[in-house]
Amino acid sequence: MQPLKALFPALSGPDNSLVYLDSAATTQKPQVVLDAMQAFYQHQNANVHRGAHALSVKATKAYEGARARIAEFVGVSSAAQIIFCHGTTHAVNQVAHGLAHTFQSGDRILVDGAAHHANIVPWQELAKSRGAIIEPIVLDELGRIDLNAYQQALSNKPKLVALNHVSNVLGHHNPLAKLIPMAKRAGAMTLVDGAQAVAHLPVDVEALGCDFYVFSGHKMYGPTGVGILTGTLAALEMLQPLMTGGEMIKQVSWQGSSFTKLPNRLEAGTPPIAEVIGLGAAVEFLQGLDREAIAKQESQLLTTARQGLQRLGFTSYGDPNNCHGALAFNLAGEHHQDIGILLDQQQVAVRCGHHCAMPLMSHLGLAGSCRLSVALYNDQSDIELALDALAQAKELLHG
Ligand code: PMP
Repeated sequence: MQPLKALFPALSGPDNSLVYLDSAATTQKPQVVLDAMQAFYQHQNANVHRGAHALSVKATKAYEGARARIAEFVGVSSAAQIIFCHGTTHAVNQVAHGLAHTFQSGDRILVDGAAHHANIVPWQELAKSRGAIIEPIVLDELGRIDLNAYQQALSNKPKLVALNHVSNVLGHHNPLAKLIPMAKRAGAMTLVDGAQAVAHLPVDVEALGCDFYVFSGHKMYGPTGVGILTGTLAALEMLQPLMTGGEMIKQVSWQGSSFTKLPNRLEAGTPPIAEVIGLGAAVEFLQGLDREAIAKQESQLLTTARQGLQRLGFTSYGDPNNCHGALAFNLAGEHHQDIGILLDQQQVAVRCGHHCAMPLMSHLGLAGSCRLSVALYNDQSDIELALDALAQAKELLHG
């Protein structure tokens, strides 16, 4: 067993034979994250920002400490640019709702053709409410953004461009260093969905130059229930709060209310305090690792998997030279769900279905696929066991 796997209780232990290849759905959690959350409840549990007592001060310090650490981790200069949300879905909804007041009938929103539904449906709802027009960014036959078509679409002067950082189906890493400046030159705001990027690549939001960047804690070794909306202060300042209530106000009277400054203005109510602290611990965990070596190892695992799939007669999708974290595949003539069940019976966990990216699936001409996804705890033996299980599955199905 690789030493990193031993840091994850759900994957280690003498009788543990689970081959977990579903980290794009959610990663397993290292012991340090579990310990940080338990320690909070045991020794620091109080509400944040509101107590005059020592315990609340302690809780607030831990909570705001996590915010500062996350800001540093993703390359934003002020902790006020880190807005705690429930996850990527909540963060995109906050941006779509928050910008609605700036949209007029006929304004265009350009959306990545490979986007996750979380980065599609909130824009559709915005379009419905404001009379805006959604335009998908055209993909090539492998599912990558077609740069000529993108340039062409930008000539229609969209108000906003919503992009993937890394695709949750094909693992494609979008060339943001090209795509974002192109969008900016066309006068568009940009939102990047980093849900599948942050666990695999170093992310520097200010260097990317996007207006908004969103991601989920649970896909980067942190707990569920917490995610991040970040971006430039100017862009975040434009957002109307999605939720209102306590914590986010300056003053309330029966005549009306005024809202406080960022980040609290977009964080109504009691936040997920233990989860934020857990996410801070996950970030500290990642900061202590050689992330370049991990990225290299993950990429080798996916290459081995792709070669093995080909040898066994499975079809895999996307660009083999641009594959990060996730790999989608099928066996001709067989339903992806049947493959998933047969793998599960052999303790191999993958995801099967449309992966919340129906427009991409339809572009690829697929009803669905299996998807295996890797994380820092996976090793060559996981891939070998998965390939053995796939060979077994094929044998069973084809006789
Ligand atoms: N975007 C991408 C690319 C994703 O992979 C996911 C999760 N599958 C989401 C958005 C939604 O994340 P969450 O469910 O944590 O809000």
